[in-house]
Amino acid sequence: MPVADRECRQIVVIGAGPAGAIAATLLKRQGHDVLIIEREQFPRFSIGESLLSHCLDFLEEAGMLDAVQAAGFQLKTGAAFACGEQYSAFDFSETFSDGKPTTFQVPRADFDKLLADEASRQGVEIRYQESIIAGDFAAGQPVLAVQRADGSQYSVQAGFVLDASGYGRVLARLLDLEAPSDFPTRQAVFTHVEDRIGDPDFDRTKILVTVHPTMPDVWFWSIPFSAGRCSVGVVASAERFNGQPEDLDACLRAFIEQTPSLSRVLQNTVWDTPARTIGGYAANVKTLHGRGFALLGNAAEFLDPVFSSGVTIAMRSASLAAGVLHRQLQGQSVDWEAEFAVPLKRGVDTFRAYVESWYEGRLQRVIFYPDSSDDIRRMICSILAGYAWDERNPFVAEPKRRLRMLAEICASTDS
Ligand code: FAD
Repeated sequence: MPVADRECRQIVVIGAGPAGAIAATLLKRQGHDVLIIEREQFPRFSIGESLLSHCLDFLEEAGMLDAVQAAGFQLKTGAAFACGEQYSAFDFSETFSDGKPTTFQVPRADFDKLLADEASRQGVEIRYQESIIAGDFAAGQPVLAVQRADGSQYSVQAGFVLDASGYGRVLARLLDLEAPSDFPTRQAVFTHVEDRIGDPDFDRTKILVTVHPTMPDVWFWSIPFSAGRCSVGVVASAERFNGQPEDLDACLRAFIEQTPSLSRVLQNTVWDTPARTIGGYAANVKTLHGRGFALLGNAAEFLDPVFSSGVTIAMRSASLAAGVLHRQLQGQSVDWEAEFAVPLKRGVDTFRAYVESWYEGRLQRVIFYPDSSDDIRRMICSILAGYAWDERNPFVAEPKRRLRMLAEICASTDS
């Protein structure tokens, strides 16, 4: 396409998931011109249904909180963990950080459409069923090649590109930024069900994370939605799937049958939706920014689903990047590393320490320890609620050391 015909936009955002919708809206609210290019037609399925409290801070910042609160999503008050007969529940109203006491459990098709519609309502232009297929970042301003659903193409020159393409990882692939994750390859098999959970002790307002009775690195999520439906999934490393049925529905049910406490909860469930799978989702990049671009949410790094941190990190990255980009567009001198990458990584590294400690077994010991002090539980609960950037919390300031020490104390008093 000749340069003269090229469309020029101030900011192009790749992807209309939570990271893209929040970043685009925050920039639009500051008066900037923003175009989102989204590959799919919304609503579209996405995984990542249990939100943390901290998400609501970004929805509020983007002027979307009222719409989310009015949408009828299942209220979430915390996170519960089960292993055999052990059970431990954390309530987000009891956190060290002064955060939001509740959040939501959301079918992402509906939630993401709501956010994207809110972005449009606030003036963001979104083009659905168009994909970014190439990018030239060598010259002064980036030029993106866009492919429409009918196969035709056009190009857009952007003052700045925010890549919020999630698992699409558009710029990581195009600019050779991919880096290996620290975590081994794991796989999730999951579905939505009509749960018919009758157990009066089951708390629908909490995600339930259940540990497999003989394989402590294998765990399940149960995320109740409104209207009697629930998301159910299992996460295991690749080798744990050896010997399990190949059929996804049978495989998920087999893992659950091996886990009596969860089987009991789901004994009347109607399995009405074919199971899906996603694997090898942990990913990293060499850099979070470069000339003319920054990477948000899963387009940058994804750790692990166990603490439901993905959407929170995506929204936090969107908020940070929108702030830096706004200052840059106002002509201020900005430092993307110091103002975006370093502060974002601080919280990501807190979650990383928690994920590592979970799979090592230490954090499980801490979570199920019956005699933890209220103060310690509040500090741990803060991170479970997403406040992983609050360095006043000793478990944020020094997560590895604190968790190691605490696990040792729990182990010595247990034995
Ligand atoms: P996405 O939500 O993936 O959005 C990216 C968008 O970009 C998509 O709409 C896609 O269509 C679009 N796109 C892709 N390629 C292109 C292209 N070439 N051109 C244009 N558009 C493109 N997180 C939680 O917070 N809670 C959970 O309970 C949770 N559970 C999880 C369970 C599992 C098994 C896994 C793997 C992850 C889970 N996550 C969870 C993480 C969560 O899925 C992600 O972190 C979150 O969706 C990231 O949001 P995002 O906006 O970065 O990307």
